[in-house]
Amino acid sequence: MGGLNPPPVLVATRSAHKLREIRGLLADLPVRLLGPADLGLPERKEEEDLEPFDTFARNALSKAKYFHRRSGLPVLADDSGLCVDALGGGPGVRTRRFAPPELVARWGRDEANNRWLLEQLESVAEERRRAHYRCAVALTDDLRHEVVEGIVRGRIARRPDGSGGFGYDPLFVPEGHDRTYAELPAEVKTATSHRAKAVRRARGWIEREVLRIRGGER
Ligand code: IMP
Repeated sequence: MGGLNPPPVLVATRSAHKLREIRGLLADLPVRLLGPADLGLPERKEEEDLEPFDTFARNALSKAKYFHRRSGLPVLADDSGLCVDALGGGPGVRTRRFAPPELVARWGRDEANNRWLLEQLESVAEERRRAHYRCAVALTDDLRHEVVEGIVRGRIARRPDGSGGFGYDPLFVPEGHDRTYAELPAEVKTATSHRAKAVRRARGWIEREVLRIRGGER
C-alpha cells in the first residue's frame, strides 16, 4: 500500500507566498509539496549566497541542487523577478535585493523595493513602463534535472494598488488588464502569471518522478 502514498517533493523556497502559489498550481498532482520548514531544515546563512548567477535558470538550479543535498528529496526551486524595459531589463536577477539596505531597514523588503522602483521610474513615460515578470523553475533528483521558464508581460503602474499577491504585485499590471495583480482576483494571476506558466511546464517532470518513485517502491 506504501506505493499509493503521495511521494514528497521539496519546494525549495523560504517564501510562504511562493510556496502557497506553487501548491495551488499543483494541487491536483499526487505529490506532497513540502517547504523547508516542513522538513525541519533550519534557515542557514549560506542560503543568502545561492543566487550568484546572471540568469534565473542558473540561480534556480543552484537552489534546487543545494536543497537536494540537504534533503535527499526531489526538489522544485523557483527563481523569479521583474525586468523593466526602462531599466535595461533590471532589476532582473537582483529583484529581491533591489532597494538599498537603508530603505529595507525602514520599510521592510517588499515595500522598500516597490518604493525604490517607483522612484527609479518617476519621470518615465507610460510607453516606457513596459516590464515582464520571469520565473525559472528547476527540478532535480539524484539522476536528472531540468529547468523550465515562464514570462508574463505587463507594465509598472504609477502608484501601488491592491492587497493581493506579494512583492511587486501592487505595481504590476499584466497585459490585457488595467488593474494590478494585487487588485485583480487571484484567479487572474493563477491563470496568467510567469510562475503559473513555468509550473505548468514542470508538471511532466513531476509526473514522471511520481512514476519513477512508485516503480522503485514495487
Ligand atoms: P527570489 O527569491 O530571488 O526568486 O526573488 C524573487 C523576487 O522577485 C522577490 O523580490 C519577489 O518579491 C519578486 N517576485 C517574484 N515573483 C513575484 C510575483 O509573483 N509577484 C511579485 N513579486 C514577485
